[in-house]
Amino acid sequence: MEKLKKFFINGTWVNPRSDETMAVISPSDLRQIGTVSLGNEQDVNDAVQSAKKAFTSFSKTKKKERIDLLKDLKRITERRFEDLAQAMREEMGAPISMARSAQADAALGHLESFIGALAELKERTVLDSGDVLLKEPVGICGLITPWNWPVNQIALKVIPALATGCTCILKPSEYTPLSAMVYTEIIEEAGYPAGVFNLVNGVGDTVGRAMSKHLEIDMMSFTGSTRAGIMVTKDSSETIKRVTLELGGKSPNIVFSDANLERDIKYSINECMFNTGQSCDAPTRLLVEHSCYEEVLKIAKKSAEEILIGDPTKEGDHIGPLFDKIQFDRVQNMIDLGIKEGASVLTGGLGKPHGLEKGWFVKPTIFYNVSNTMRIAREEIFGPVLVIMPFKNEQEAISIANDSPYGLAAYVQTSDIKKAERVSSQLRVGAVHINGGGYNYGTPFGGYKQSGNGREGGLMGLEDYLETKSLHGL
Ligand code: NDP
Repeated sequence: MEKLKKFFINGTWVNPRSDETMAVISPSDLRQIGTVSLGNEQDVNDAVQSAKKAFTSFSKTKKKERIDLLKDLKRITERRFEDLAQAMREEMGAPISMARSAQADAALGHLESFIGALAELKERTVLDSGDVLLKEPVGICGLITPWNWPVNQIALKVIPALATGCTCILKPSEYTPLSAMVYTEIIEEAGYPAGVFNLVNGVGDTVGRAMSKHLEIDMMSFTGSTRAGIMVTKDSSETIKRVTLELGGKSPNIVFSDANLERDIKYSINECMFNTGQSCDAPTRLLVEHSCYEEVLKIAKKSAEEILIGDPTKEGDHIGPLFDKIQFDRVQNMIDLGIKEGASVLTGGLGKPHGLEKGWFVKPTIFYNVSNTMRIAREEIFGPVLVIMPFKNEQEAISIANDSPYGLAAYVQTSDIKKAERVSSQLRVGAVHINGGGYNYGTPFGGYKQSGNGREGGLMGLEDYLETKSLHGL
């Protein structure tokens, strides 16, 4: 835990220049579980200088060397798998079974698919004209990750940077520094040359901004709120950095009356409440065909009330607390706002669930009598809160679904596969999940509209970290 007070720069754990610290609190019982150092601009500078030095030789490494390093990373990740899961259980309250099967699993799943994608990647292509295209690492990358899927996000940014021969500085969320520390130890043990990977903890306003504004950082990859994504883009604009963003969502879930309602509504409710609703692509707007609206309300209420909430240390498929008081207050304020806006509470509501008054636990909440103009239907709540709205026909469903500033994901439930594809093709989103079809590692992940730009994962996730050079006259 002493390492939480240090940063990893130039291949060693160093004392920060800044003497600012922050307590790390367990969201399930409010115990202090550590103290993390919060860096400053000088810390960022040290990390950038180390990454710059390392780039000279790491950018010239052969693909085979980088694949071998990734295979070492995989071997060590497998050994440290339980440490990653326990860290996320402790720092963000992810229930341990899910911390293993989804949160920590992402470290290995993404790694395997990136190894495959790197093997496939063509670094030299001869065009019909005879010109040659080279793919080269973009340079020094600043990587900023949030607290909701801590290791998933680190893996989606750090691995492609290392795979393509870039060097990087990671600023994880200071609220979830434990898993980032374990991940850094894994990279350290894998034997990457000093300076290839650097870790600086700190707040977005100081460390994050210093990274986005830094003259010698070539690319920023950010996951978090649209608000912070705008800041990163503005700060990066002065130095014309490449910026990739994975931001918020308010994903529609269209339920047609020909769906298997019992099965698909239960799945839809569980998917919305998974990770206590703290997922950017959660299906949070349930759009229901008029003819089955009343029946869906009944199934939705029953499904939400069957969701278990409990201690993250216990095995099982229950949900845990929200990650912090900040998020607890945000979610309570949004539920309060929904009531004031005139929506009806189908189940859940304000306050903590009975018997779980100590941590940042909330009740899975469903609103109906909602219009798509209400703030609870337009804004990302990032808690276990669902809104249900009826639609008359296919065209109206598509129109409500697309009436959102976001465009990360959508969900469609119908037994008519042709209709599912017809509707999907008209949705302005980066991914459509049909009848429970889940995400697969290696498939590009990212959004349309204000949900961001760029794609993470697999071959497209590598391409974001590459520059293209053309050679004429060879
Ligand atoms: P933020 O977007 O503020 O934080 C995400 C990360 O960005 C953190 O590491 C944060 O640091 C950093 N950051 C914040 N401001 C800047 C900046 N100006 N420059 C660089 N980095 C910055 O999310 P919050 O944690 O405040 O959550 C707010 C809302 O954002 C949530 O309710 C949810 O709606 C959404 N969100 C979406 C996520 C997604 O996966 N798309 C993930 C997390 C949140 P610091 O913590 O110090 O501010």
